[in-house]
Amino acid sequence: CGIVGYIGKGKAANILMEGLEKLEYRGYDSAGIAILNKNEMEVRKYKGRLKVLKESLEKNSIEGTIGIGHTRWATHGEPSDINSHPHLNGEHTIAVVHNGIIENFSRLKDELKEKGYNFLSETDTEVLPHLLDLYYDGDMVEAVKKVVNKVEGSYALAILDKNNPDSLIAVRKDSPLVIGLGDGENFIASDIPAILKYTRKVYILEDREMAVITKDKIDIMKTDGTSIEKEIYEVTWDV
Ligand code: GLU
Repeated sequence: CGIVGYIGKGKAANILMEGLEKLEYRGYDSAGIAILNKNEMEVRKYKGRLKVLKESLEKNSIEGTIGIGHTRWATHGEPSDINSHPHLNGEHTIAVVHNGIIENFSRLKDELKEKGYNFLSETDTEVLPHLLDLYYDGDMVEAVKKVVNKVEGSYALAILDKNNPDSLIAVRKDSPLVIGLGDGENFIASDIPAILKYTRKVYILEDREMAVITKDKIDIMKTDGTSIEKEIYEVTWDV
């Protein structure tokens, strides 16, 4: 339902939480974040209000300047801690947050299980980190391109990869996603209000476009590999 991503010099946990709070109005049943902290993947996710996640972070905070966050509105699998996003591959190197529905998840799940992949949740989303794991061959951009060719349905995704600790990947089809441009920091959001405190300059992704985002640079391309020049959209309104 709600997606945020951050890479830069600030404390990712705080910036992600602020963004998720701005998206609360959309409704949700659970929330979670994944952050790379000294190259360790740290994940917290809970059923319930954002307050539950916030209290966990207040008790035991997570350092780190790159991460992704999600508020979930369950479509497949009941609201629970396990079904909350982010979802991960078995080795916990890849974390994914997802808005939308993977229509062919059931077949993909069977195929992945046959290959030995272990599923923890009841969600459609969990096929994504496992598929990325399956296709990852040293180049996450190529893996994402292959995965979007396999999946049917709607998605906005933010992907965090421990093997690429200096970049985030965002991609969408039939579900909104924007990239916010900062100074030495950049953002991902499913909706502009999530990042308006930090920037008014955004790229609005179209279907089958993906972005590779570092703290100083944003590369946007189509998922078929063709590169594109995108205009920056200046947000002139307030929330
Ligand atoms: N279909 C996914 C799930 O049920 C994502 C739902 C959403 O957009 O929040 O976990």
